[in-house]
Amino acid sequence: MKLLLVEDEPKMARMLQRGLAEEGHSVDACATGEEAYARATDVAYDVVLLDWSLPDTDGITLLKRWRDAGLSTPVMMLTARGSTGEKVTGLKAGADDYLVKPFDFEELLARLTALSRRGTAAHGAPKFKSVELDTRRRLFRRADKEAELTAREFTLAQEFFAHPNDVLSRTRLLSAVWGTDFEGNPNVVDVYVGYLRAKLEGVGAIDVELCAVRGIGYRLTGREP
Ligand code: CA
Repeated sequence: MKLLLVEDEPKMARMLQRGLAEEGHSVDACATGEEAYARATDVAYDVVLLDWSLPDTDGITLLKRWRDAGLSTPVMMLTARGSTGEKVTGLKAGADDYLVKPFDFEELLARLTALSRRGTAAHGAPKFKSVELDTRRRLFRRADKEAELTAREFTLAQEFFAHPNDVLSRTRLLSAVWGTDFEGNPNVVDVYVGYLRAKLEGVGAIDVELCAVRGIGYRLTGREP
């Protein structure tokens, strides 16, 4: 699994990172909410391990920001606090599971596996016409053809597949995929729509189209093959 570990206690972070790496997982670690926010929206992780209290924010606030931005990666909250009230708060904010420190490492492994499976099942594989967006392996699939997507392409494709036939504005796509504080060239949206079109063509998806809507943005729509 590809994991993001958000933990500000160096000892805990090192212990987890080492243990998870020994189990064959690839682990990116960060210690602040800002870094974690950027990472998780930039890279497609299987599961995020999120500490409740962070130096610049708290896990709950961060989790809400992610969910508001449309991030569907399963999140496991890690915390020293174990009261029912806080557990409920965490789960309501969009956490998929919750583990109280100190926890048993074997239990963490078991829950991570369950979570990544559930994540796949819960988020499923959105389909539009003949094309499936495999959220587990991040690719377009049509019949026996597959086209792998980069992290950005995948996030952009998720937006379109979550809102088929809707006109999505450039601004909306920019903030969903590149973040609200994006200061680069907004034409990046057009460039990436171009990449997605090429990949759709790559799997022979002749019944779907990413149409430009003049002056607004794009929409995913069906077309007569
Ligand atoms: Ca902490």
